[in-house]
Amino acid sequence: MTFIPPLLYIISAILFILGIKGLSKATTARRGNATSSVGMLLAVVATLISTGVVEVQWIIVGAAAGALIGFLAARLVQMTGMPEMVALFNGFGGLASLLVGWGTYQGAADNALVGLGNFAANPSEFLASLGGSFSSATIFAAILIGGVTFTGSLIAWGKLSGTITQKPVLFFGQNVVNSLIVLAILAGGVWFTINPDYYWVAIAATGAALIMGIMVVIPIGGGDMPVVISLLNSYSGLAACAAGFVIRNNLLIITGALVGASGIILTNIMCKAMNRSLINVLFSGFGSGTGGGGGAGIQGEAKSMQPSDAYYILEAASSVVVIPGYGMAVAQAQHAVRELAEALEANGAEVKYAIHPVAGRMPGHMNVLLAEANVSYDQLVEMDSINPSMDTQDVAIVIGANDVVNPAAHEDEGSPIYGMPIIDAEKARTCFILKRSMASGFAGIDNPLFFKEKSYMIFGDAKATVESLVGEFKESAA
Ligand code: NDP
Repeated sequence: MTFIPPLLYIISAILFILGIKGLSKATTARRGNATSSVGMLLAVVATLISTGVVEVQWIIVGAAAGALIGFLAARLVQMTGMPEMVALFNGFGGLASLLVGWGTYQGAADNALVGLGNFAANPSEFLASLGGSFSSATIFAAILIGGVTFTGSLIAWGKLSGTITQKPVLFFGQNVVNSLIVLAILAGGVWFTINPDYYWVAIAATGAALIMGIMVVIPIGGGDMPVVISLLNSYSGLAACAAGFVIRNNLLIITGALVGASGIILTNIMCKAMNRSLINVLFSGFGSGTGGGGGAGIQGEAKSMQPSDAYYILEAASSVVVIPGYGMAVAQAQHAVRELAEALEANGAEVKYAIHPVAGRMPGHMNVLLAEANVSYDQLVEMDSINPSMDTQDVAIVIGANDVVNPAAHEDEGSPIYGMPIIDAEKARTCFILKRSMASGFAGIDNPLFFKEKSYMIFGDAKATVESLVGEFKESAA
């Protein structure tokens, strides 16, 4: 029967790989999620069987408790709270790896009869009881990467939820301080690997890792946050991978590596979406400029329009591009938006949804919302595909998007987002911007789109505005 856990591990690993493959396309994402869930269930069962100390009834109790917590979390967390929840998930993954590292270290110390703060009578014996210097190196890696991921994710959670400032926090000599922490961690790592007998090195490394997590994320803000979220996701995988080496669990190594690698690929996609390099993101302090929130730095006057007037332009349009952003998530306007699209189509217009890779507050945020509202995947068009035809579109309706349509990215060399690809809403024949005020978006910078000749602001909550537009169509059809 000893062959059962390894066999289940292999099946789980295959299911994880198939699951990730499924997640790469909107049409197969649900199936991919289900496939990975089955893989995880098998992995948990195999692990519990292989420890030999847990009986089947505990597997059932554990699975039921996990299913209940997962069900409640999925039901209770608002869609707008999803990005924060993802950040917390990453953080807890990191904390788990840190605890696995410490637990294994403490267990070996207890076996070698070394109390916390004492030195082993025979350091080399202690190292051997730990499993050699490879084991001490992996314990150090699990503690280090886990610690950085944990506090880094908590800071990311704070920034996404607005609990702490969303702007980059920069101070004089920051890079020097960070470099010194990194050097201290590297020196501690070498020391601990050779001689794990010194408890205080592990304690100091844990503290340094926790501080490093904070230092890595506080200087990043504004439009660079998506890169950080995906990077932390990758770290949580690497931390799990290191924990897998610590407890010699092949499946944890495989899954950690899968999460680590897919997180790096996503980070790369996000960097490309922002037209920035990872080094640039990590060390430059995006959004720390002085761009105000109210459009004060931009010359001209923004025109506004009532939904009842906007209706006449939409009624005459034969092509409409909807550009959703974070405000659509806040307003929970996705169902009303689908209704508006249906009314426009019934009126003979062609409707497409233009999706910017960093719109919203988490990768794929807009796709998830629109899928929830049963918008057909065929109508979703990526930024690179829609931009060449933007000047042939009759109307662009920007719904709660701001940074991702900000032409400062093309026009203003001094702007922190200069060079970032955007959806060219300004090129459409008419551009409606649905938002509540002239306030800036997540990056905290002014948006010249509001002041363009063909732009009209339609102020108000996005859902209420879209519903009044739908109402106009219904009224005229009645
Ligand atoms: P933005 O954050 O730039 O703008 C959102 C706009 O929505 C605001 O200007 C706000 O204006 C408006 N809004 C808010 N609530 C409502 C409402 N109820 N009704 C109508 N409008 C509303 O969003 P974008 O999607 O354009 O850009 C995403 C930004 O978030 C980028 O800077 C991106 O880098 C960053 N980010 C993205 C992540 C990701 O993974 N996708 C993760 C972290 C950050 P007003 O208050 O006037 O209504």
